[in-house]
Amino acid sequence: MAQPFDDAELGALLHRIADEARQDFAKGQNLGKVADYIPALAAIDPNKFGIAVTMVDGRQFCARDALEPFSLQSISKVFTLTLALELVGDELWSRVGREPSGTPFNSLVQLEYEKGIPRNPLINAGALVVTDAIVAAAAVSPPIKAIADFIRVRAANPTIRIDDVVAQSEKAWGYRNAALANLMKAFGNIKSPVADVLDTYFAQCSIAMSCADLSRAMLYLANAGIDPQSGQRVVSEQRARRIKAIMLTCGHYDASGDFAFRVGLPAKSGVGGGIAAIVPGRMSIAVWSPALSAQGNSVAGTIALEKLAAAAGCSIFD
Ligand code: GLU
Repeated sequence: MAQPFDDAELGALLHRIADEARQDFAKGQNLGKVADYIPALAAIDPNKFGIAVTMVDGRQFCARDALEPFSLQSISKVFTLTLALELVGDELWSRVGREPSGTPFNSLVQLEYEKGIPRNPLINAGALVVTDAIVAAAAVSPPIKAIADFIRVRAANPTIRIDDVVAQSEKAWGYRNAALANLMKAFGNIKSPVADVLDTYFAQCSIAMSCADLSRAMLYLANAGIDPQSGQRVVSEQRARRIKAIMLTCGHYDASGDFAFRVGLPAKSGVGGGIAAIVPGRMSIAVWSPALSAQGNSVAGTIALEKLAAAAGCSIFD
């Protein structure tokens, strides 16, 4: 049984976790490697560390670099999945599965022998199908505006922007994503022009936002699909539950099992070093530290979430 934890202590807990991360960096411990296959990301200081919690009751706690924007990358896939389900409904599941892939985020191998149907919406192939659904169904032009506006409203921050330098860098080096999209186009599972889908995908990954913004933006998933601050229903309760199930089983690529074992929360990582995690009914957490494990997940971010979940007794398995 987890120890009772007073949420008023969260601010102090976040500062303690951030201090421990700083000490680890100083000692040269718990280090990973900043993503360098997107050159614009390679320049980020690996010792950055931010963490923020937004509670369902409106309280927010932040520590260290929590207000500094970072590259959202694959965490955007949770927002696009939400948006695509609202736009096209459960029909989306005929084009993308719901199984962990057990393969790297940008793997091509499985896609070939599974005939262009990606395992889940949180690996790159699946996210490209989801983005394709948005490109086809969005009521605004260009479709990236629908995605960026959705995120801005969720974060209650109209100033959130797309980092064009990162988007261009992703495009210039996006050979694997182009290969995935073209392979799926050949199987008939990408409907719009491949170039439009890729441009939208690179732009959504290049959205820059802070831990404070991100934890606020994910709050609807902590509150059964309703944004508790605006009262707006974002998705049905059933969809919110299902999105979290996919985050738990697929949110960390081929390290999803290890993350569930260590942290025990539905969460999504991105190669910008961010991780967003949901504590159902209670809070949304965002952590950022750019140095990554071999599987592309923030090393210090995962350690921080492991400590937070243990100290606050908030794993979904507690
Ligand atoms: N934009 C990155 C890519 O497609 C996202 C990968 C990630 O964050 O895991 O390669």
